[in-house]
Amino acid sequence: MDDIPEALRETSTSQTKLQSTPGLLMGGILGIGMILMLGGAFLMRPVSSPSKTSSSSVTSVKPSPTPTPIPVSSPTPEPIENLLGHLEYKQAPVSELKAITSDGRIKLRHNAADQFIEMQRAARSQGIILTPISGFRTVSEQNYLFFEIQRQRNQNPSQRAEVSAPPNYSEHHTGYAIDIGDGKAPATNLSPNFEKTAAFNWLKNNAAKYSFELSFPPDNPQGISYEPWHWRYVGDQESLETFYKAKNLPKSLEN
Ligand SMILES: [Zn+2]
Repeated sequence: MDDIPEALRETSTSQTKLQSTPGLLMGGILGIGMILMLGGAFLMRPVSSPSKTSSSSVTSVKPSPTPTPIPVSSPTPEPIENLLGHLEYKQAPVSELKAITSDGRIKLRHNAADQFIEMQRAARSQGIILTPISGFRTVSEQNYLFFEIQRQRNQNPSQRAEVSAPPNYSEHHTGYAIDIGDGKAPATNLSPNFEKTAAFNWLKNNAAKYSFELSFPPDNPQGISYEPWHWRYVGDQESLETFYKAKNLPKSLEN
């Protein structure tokens, strides 16, 4: 009880049968023509639609049978989200923090804390006093530092952002960043003059052995003021991903 014509049921050997049945052949050509026209109209629809932006309609209409390519190979990388040049960071879980001062006031993530203490010990053996000034900070602490100090100093947001990160955008949230002072030159704390201290000179020559690096060297691509006192730990997988994964900044941010 099968009433579908034989020619339509068979696909692989239908060529000879189609040639002997002109009506079916014409129908087939017309059918293919219709499919092509419909397909063409479908493909052209996003381009000719004036009400939507081209990018949004293309992404919403175009089917994607294959996985999207890795962004690295794309000629136009997606812009990295930033706020006044600062990148967004998650706050470290409190359970992963470890004190690096005897009073427990300044904390870093475990690996960063262990390496800082070792670095501090090595420096001390050479007469250099590395004093931790600030380590992990909560978002609310950064909120005060950004907005309250901005008001006290009569700065606008752009001016403030050159020397401080907005809340949610500070490397200090990660538990990997630390501000370091010279115990023998406290007047240079958090000042560009820290660059002239023995502590900075020692860090410049030795910090990499302990997996610390300067976050904001002179002329950094983020456009943040040079901060010789601000170092970050990049010595394990998580810290490396935190600071380097997809952090290639758009050209517009380079200066
Ligand atoms: Zn800092």
